Amino acid sequence: MRTRRGFQCIYAGFIPECAGSLLESAEHCLPRGLGKFLGSERLRGRVCAPCNQELGKVHDVFLHTGPEAICRELMGLSGRKKHRPKNPYMEQTHKVPPIDALGKFPGTDMDVLWESASGGAAIQVIPQIVITNPSEIRRIRLTPEMRSYDCFSRVLKSEGTAASRVAVMVPEKELAMYQAFLARFYGNSIQNTNLSTFSSGGSTTARMLFTPSPDYYRAVAVIGFHFLLSHCKLLSGLEPQFAGLKKYIASGGDRELFLKCGTDPLMKQVGLFQCSHLLSLKIADNAINVILIYFAGIGSNFVVWKLTIPAPETVISMAAEGWAYSYYPRGIKKKDFDGELLPLMDQRCRVPPLLKLNLLNPQWPTLAVDVFRKPPA
Ligand SMILES: [Zn+2]
Repeated sequence: MRTRRGFQCIYAGFIPECAGSLLESAEHCLPRGLGKFLGSERLRGRVCAPCNQELGKVHDVFLHTGPEAICRELMGLSGRKKHRPKNPYMEQTHKVPPIDALGKFPGTDMDVLWESASGGAAIQVIPQIVITNPSEIRRIRLTPEMRSYDCFSRVLKSEGTAASRVAVMVPEKELAMYQAFLARFYGNSIQNTNLSTFSSGGSTTARMLFTPSPDYYRAVAVIGFHFLLSHCKLLSGLEPQFAGLKKYIASGGDRELFLKCGTDPLMKQVGLFQCSHLLSLKIADNAINVILIYFAGIGSNFVVWKLTIPAPETVISMAAEGWAYSYYPRGIKKKDFDGELLPLMDQRCRVPPLLKLNLLNPQWPTLAVDVFRKPPA
């Protein structure tokens, strides 16, 4: 299954869609949605196009369902197009649910769903119905399809019809339509609380609720593995020691065999020149450790990922190295690049190359932004 160029896809035998051999391919080890970094080499001749496409799905989950989706907005990486291609607060990504960011609606005791707005600098309420009954509170996103009564009633029925209070949060122009839908669905027996007529202003804090999905974890592993291959030229990626990791990347499984996460108290003292992704490699106890920290420099809770892979003999004496994929200050692009690759010892990002790890319970970043915006209008 080799071509005349001698390349063989490293996922042959692992990903069913694999084309086996390839003439030429090049991919970024960081997903393109995180930006383009000057000096970052692409991984060439290792992964075929069909495998790239399959792994692109887990990258999509990584970019759209976790804290990175919010960080991308804050860094202006998702707002290039006039309207964003996908709203991660409203839509699922490859069957992974949208982001839940919960916070009190100003002036009330009710937790509602928010989304980031204005490039991440503020938050606003997403269109939703909040159904309260004595035992629980449910929030239903009002997607464009729910402007049809058939769809609206089907979704509400599937949620159960018991309600002691229903609140609608929609743009003013849609309010009458949804009030009519509710009157038709429930009869006139319930009290509608129309929050959108509350006076504007006030502030709140939204908190992101995040449980990583299996595909999210796989994406972290893919990035770490491809970072290793692009920085360690002695490795082809075909070494038998990588079989277990490739099986996990291709089809999931017990991620704790390879991937652990925690926080690193040392990182709080690190002075970063600019927001960066920090990736480093180190050999210890016949294993390669790849340490990954995404969006270091945003917030104070760094989640540190540690990918551990058995080391092939060829790299047993490999020197440790670390790199920062460092963004330019917000709004700056140089020749189409969003940032540059800097060695971790560089003065501009004073980060020690070998991060000492204390694995603790993960603490996910929270979105904490003041709101001085009106509800959707
Ligand atoms: Zn392949």
